[in-house]
Amino acid sequence: MDRSDKGILVVVSGFAGTGKGTLMKSLIREYEGYALSVSMTTRQPRQGEAHGREYFFVTREEFEEKIAQQGLLEYACYCDNYYGTPREYVEACLAGGKDVILEIELQGALKIKKQYPEALLLFVMPPSAAELYRRLLGRGTESEEVIRKRLLRALDEARGIENYDYIVINDDLQTCVKQMHHMIRAARNTPARNMEFIEDVRQQLDDLLKGEK
Ligand code: 5GP
Repeated sequence: MDRSDKGILVVVSGFAGTGKGTLMKSLIREYEGYALSVSMTTRQPRQGEAHGREYFFVTREEFEEKIAQQGLLEYACYCDNYYGTPREYVEACLAGGKDVILEIELQGALKIKKQYPEALLLFVMPPSAAELYRRLLGRGTESEEVIRKRLLRALDEARGIENYDYIVINDDLQTCVKQMHHMIRAARNTPARNMEFIEDVRQQLDDLLKGEK
């Protein structure tokens, strides 16, 4: 097996307002070999969001049906709504050699790491808390109460950052996208993610030596 045959799962988390969505869209536009998983959610679409592009927007009943069918790789409840990763698309992309990006929160990230120990976990951080607040306000799509809930949640999630492989600070978008791409490329070459290839070469060496005797 060629070592670049199989893609890896890349989990990207970060507080709301850190610009993860924009980052991911730029990464996929600028570099080849990535696929972005579209999650399912029970939250209402925001202005400008489309079904099947940002999310699959479904009812609570539809979501629970998907859970019952084992159709989700993971799911979590975040700010009173369900969010989950449809299984089929992710598995097909990985088999096809693509690196699949999951933009999900901490609980989901930990569930993925358990199922796929070779997954790469990245956490996007704002340059400062003040900047995060400014970005959340600037988005103008949420009420003061929702923003507060998200800041509280951010504080909670900040305690889980140690579980990630790398942090990415989103100050300048272009720099950040480039950094992420390089982290993912580098991760594909760790021994732990290439054991099949390594074992193959070891076996070939062994065979070669035996042949020489
Ligand atoms: P938002 O409502 O701002 O789009 O997303 C809220 C949070 O849910 C974000 O932290 C986002 O990363 C997370 N999220 C989106 N999709 C999924 C998913 O499929 N699973 C999990 N566990 N979290 C998700």
